[in-house]
Amino acid sequence: MKPKKKKIRFSIWYLLLALWGVFLINQFFITPQKTEEISYSQFKGLLAGGHVKEVTIGKEKITGKALMSGEKEKEKTFVTVRVEDPGLVAELLRHKVTFSGKSENIFLNSLIAWVLPLLVFVGIWIFFIRRMGRGPEFMSIGRSKARILAEDQLGVTFDDVAGVDEAKEELKETVEFLRNPKKFTQLGGRLPKGVLLVGPPGCGKTLLAKAVAGEAKVPFFSISGSEFVEMFVGVGAARVRDLFARAVEKAPCIIFVDELDALGKARGINPIGGHDEREQTLNQLLVEMDGFDTKKGVILMAATNRPEILDPALLRPGRFDRHILVDRPDIKGRQAIFEVHAKGVTLAKDVDFKVLAGMTPGFVGADLANVINEGALLAVRRGKKAVGMAEMEEAIERMVAGLEKKTRVMNVQERRIVAYHELGHALMALTVPHADPVQKVSIIPRGIAALGYTLQRPTEDRYLMTKSELLDKLTMLLGGRVAEELAFDEVSTGAQNDLVKATDIARSMVKEYGMSENLGLVAFERDRLSPYIQSPQFPSSQEYSEETSREIDAEIKRIVDEAHQRARRILKKKKAILDKVAKILLEKEVITGDELKRLVSEAA
Ligand code: ADP
Ligand code: ZN
Repeated sequence: MKPKKKKIRFSIWYLLLALWGVFLINQFFITPQKTEEISYSQFKGLLAGGHVKEVTIGKEKITGKALMSGEKEKEKTFVTVRVEDPGLVAELLRHKVTFSGKSENIFLNSLIAWVLPLLVFVGIWIFFIRRMGRGPEFMSIGRSKARILAEDQLGVTFDDVAGVDEAKEELKETVEFLRNPKKFTQLGGRLPKGVLLVGPPGCGKTLLAKAVAGEAKVPFFSISGSEFVEMFVGVGAARVRDLFARAVEKAPCIIFVDELDALGKARGINPIGGHDEREQTLNQLLVEMDGFDTKKGVILMAATNRPEILDPALLRPGRFDRHILVDRPDIKGRQAIFEVHAKGVTLAKDVDFKVLAGMTPGFVGADLANVINEGALLAVRRGKKAVGMAEMEEAIERMVAGLEKKTRVMNVQERRIVAYHELGHALMALTVPHADPVQKVSIIPRGIAALGYTLQRPTEDRYLMTKSELLDKLTMLLGGRVAEELAFDEVSTGAQNDLVKATDIARSMVKEYGMSENLGLVAFERDRLSPYIQSPQFPSSQEYSEETSREIDAEIKRIVDEAHQRARRILKKKKAILDKVAKILLEKEVITGDELKRLVSEAA
């Protein structure tokens, strides 16, 4: 495919050419050049004087040639409006003028009257389409705009992506497959068709996808989900079809869909009846995904920062069934990303990326690349030969100010609170007998709500939980808040989600599982039909008295309170460890479960 720019210019040339053509037709065929317009009486005079040579009588006009007087008598073409004149033919015969009749050229006239305005409209239309940034696509509506980058153009490898080692590890298999699809499938390997990269913007999802293509040296087709929105009905679907057809031709290759959420929002949640075009496009994508065979060597990759709003159909087995987290980098990752981007930059000796990485919690790869860039610009402006620590620090400060507004960066006190809160959960999980093992504790902010997180992986799938397990879980949930209480004598809003979950568990214990001694073995709540069917107009019928309702509330409160007391007792004994590990966590931002265990046993 020719580059996009060129194509636009082409169709504009076509338009100009057409207009020029119409102009020429107009000039030569409709109104012959140097035609003198004369009155009918003048014409009669010329005729009477024997100057007229020949005439063509049209429906409304008479044209002809005559010798007309000027400075010199000269044969000229004339035109005059035809007047009802029964004697004209006889007079023409008398003067031996050759004459013929002519029906006016309706075709050419209508060409001028209709086609010209039409062309102007088409011109305006193209202009607006172009303004809307979708390209003219004049000759090829539905042709996919996916850009094919040849392998040498891409030149991105895994070395260019830093700080996302786990994601890279997971993608190695995909690279292996793309390098030699036949060999891979002969050995019985089965690959997922779709790989979904999940993570906040700017963390390097696109970069990773390109790196996979670069490593495997295969073509890379990319398209953005938002390009499909607000297109003419049917165009999006046609594009998807075309994209896959072309990709199969070029296999092995990668198709990368950026901003999949723009296209793949869950269907039917739009109150106004849905976006028809988007739905059609999404359906087409699903059809194509089901239709193509991985053996051909086409791998579909997509990126999103909002996996939760994706249509579940996209995530089913055989579609985007492998999810890879591309998260904000930790302190080590940030250092590595700095180093990658500083490759082409002349640095002063005092630049220490470890220190700089420590100054940039919450920054994503794109921010870090920006810091280097800003620092280099500052150095140039100051007339320095190399970029020094001072410029880097200033660049970071500038960016922090901007990012704080977007609440992506926490201040020092917030970080401390989050560290204690998360460690509260984690230490609790290590202490109570029935908690899932801790995978890692992090204070790198994630998403909109969670400022930090404690990752626990269930050891096994659970269908049944005992009462003591539920109580342990409750205690674990309250650990975050208790840690805040102990460390700061104050609590923050950060525990809100924990409290909601804790209350839910306690309520279920009382109302559904019959786990409260005071109320006994009574289920106060049937299985709800569906949480979506309930609505304020149709409250679920309450099958118990006001008094029971009050007892239930008291019971829920008692259970939560007891768990809270228990959490306090446990953590109070561990306050020293809590302080010590919090310090380490603030420094490292991420602690693995094993490290945490080691630190705890060392302290004991
Ligand atoms: P996303 O697709 O996740 O929004 P991009 O891949 O478009 O993010 O990243 C934008 C730019 O930021 C990249 O081109 C690269 O320069 C830089 N960048 C982001 N993440 C990384 C990373 N992990 N390593 C190196 N550079 C990165
Ligand atoms: Zn919490």
